[in-house]
Amino acid sequence: MNNTAITDAMILDCGHTPSPHSPSVTGYGTYPLGGRTACYACCDASEVAILATAQHHMGYLSCAENPENPVRPLNVRITTWTGGPLITVTDWHESPHYVPGAHTRDKLIHWRGVDAHGNRWYGRGPGWGMYTRMHKSRAGK
Ligand SMILES: [Zn+2]
Repeated sequence: MNNTAITDAMILDCGHTPSPHSPSVTGYGTYPLGGRTACYACCDASEVAILATAQHHMGYLSCAENPENPVRPLNVRITTWTGGPLITVTDWHESPHYVPGAHTRDKLIHWRGVDAHGNRWYGRGPGWGMYTRMHKSRAGK
């Protein structure tokens, strides 16, 4: 491992150059390839591959605005940190969530969906654009 800065013209460990990116981010990642550098497409592909055998994973709750009904967003899905698709959400709802010690109520978004391999997953997260823990459903559940 060295500290040489990676530039956009460099070839990453995955064999590609860094992905197009905004100035605030690098255009490449190292997760989940164990410290090796990879472009966004290869990071996303490796996360999709992990879903085939993983029982738990992390993703981000994503959706598109619904101009006709702001509380029912469209195209609900779980994505990687780069926005790559992981799970197509087939069913979701919000529930009030009591936060112990804090006398406030917050919502939780509960979801169920399916990955590219046909596995069923479920989870819940604190809001749109936020992280969500993902759990694989047992067959028939
Ligand atoms: Zn790549």
